Amino acid sequence: MKNVYKAHILFTKEKNKFDVFENGYIAVEDGIVQGVAGSLKELSAQCPAFNVESVKVIDFGNRLLIPAMNDMHVHAPQVHNQGVAMDLELLPWLQNYTFPEESKYADTHYAERMYRRFLHTQWLFGTMRSVVFGTIHTDSTRILMKLYQEAGMGAMVGKVAMNRNCPDTLSEDVESYIQGQEALIAEFGDKNALVRPIVTPRFVPSCTPELLRACGELANKYQLPVQSHLSENTSEIAWVAELEKESTCYGDAYNRYGLFGQTPTIMAHCVWTNGNELELMKKNKVMVAHCPTSNFNLSSGLAPVRTFLDEDLPIGLGSDISGGHDLNMFRMLVYAIQVSKMHYQLDKNKAFLTLPEIFWIATKSAGSFFGKVGSFEPGYEFDALVIDDEVLHPDEYSLLHRLERFIYVGDDRQILHRFCRGQEIKEPKMI
Ligand SMILES: [Zn+2]
Repeated sequence: MKNVYKAHILFTKEKNKFDVFENGYIAVEDGIVQGVAGSLKELSAQCPAFNVESVKVIDFGNRLLIPAMNDMHVHAPQVHNQGVAMDLELLPWLQNYTFPEESKYADTHYAERMYRRFLHTQWLFGTMRSVVFGTIHTDSTRILMKLYQEAGMGAMVGKVAMNRNCPDTLSEDVESYIQGQEALIAEFGDKNALVRPIVTPRFVPSCTPELLRACGELANKYQLPVQSHLSENTSEIAWVAELEKESTCYGDAYNRYGLFGQTPTIMAHCVWTNGNELELMKKNKVMVAHCPTSNFNLSSGLAPVRTFLDEDLPIGLGSDISGGHDLNMFRMLVYAIQVSKMHYQLDKNKAFLTLPEIFWIATKSAGSFFGKVGSFEPGYEFDALVIDDEVLHPDEYSLLHRLERFIYVGDDRQILHRFCRGQEIKEPKMI
């Protein structure tokens, strides 16, 4: 299947600047970008085998064509709590709101209703790939994975491992966890599929050493990616130091169980990561999922994103609902810039983020966790959004300012088309 699209094309190949093609063209074959250029002639020269002349151009006119969004840390079963209890800190919030809500996912009917609502919102905001927490419940997690498959949207979905410091309704013994996880691996085992399992210990305080060991063994045995939480809040860090006395830092507690970069790993927050932990993350190429709204709402702190960038740590952005309140990833770019500006007030040596930097983080850098995703360079999967910013008075602005204004003041109503791996993604059904 071959397509050529025409629009104003913007993306970030490098982290410091946008590549802009005014009235540009992009060639896509079987979901993969073959070339991108300012004219059909240049496009044809760039990918002669594609045979540009034989393909009818789909013209999006005066609209913007940009890479789709990636949500690198999000709790699908917390969709009902979105915007609720935003006046608490992490640990009381977990006990009083999160755990009771997640317990409801033992009921697959409830799960399906909520997961459809969740997916629909992600679709609205143009999030085509996600790294997602489910709950401990295998059947409900399977429903979430199937809904992603049905929608055609990409996701790594975690059946959550937890067996201590939580209500009985959310505790699963090690044997039963392994069984459930292996059932999902058998069912969703294709490594090239858009929807894949990811090993998901909730966080160290929720998992006994036996459970953490089982998680590490599963990740290694099936070469699965890993996600969890890291150094979000100072009381949490003190708790982990108490629980895992032999670890040199919180990150080392995961590392000792094979859950810190032995397979591709993403850790949410890293607000207080420095010293040993930062070095270990660099060495093991662990990706940071920066979740600015969650860090504000739960009063966790300001993550040192400039340091992560300077140290070349892989990084992406996460909505982290319902610690975060917003599933609109474009708004996450805005919040991340704002956090970096506050950080700059504390340390003037740490420059705040620029728009190309945060766009690069949200697209090409985050997308690298899924393979070649998040850019329009040849060889990348075509995950894209067509933005119709007519209501934002586009004629008075440059293309870059149009994009910036869409990010800051636009919303889902300006997203006209969504593509994931070359397929146009239609509105998922709600019930
Ligand atoms: Zn989280």
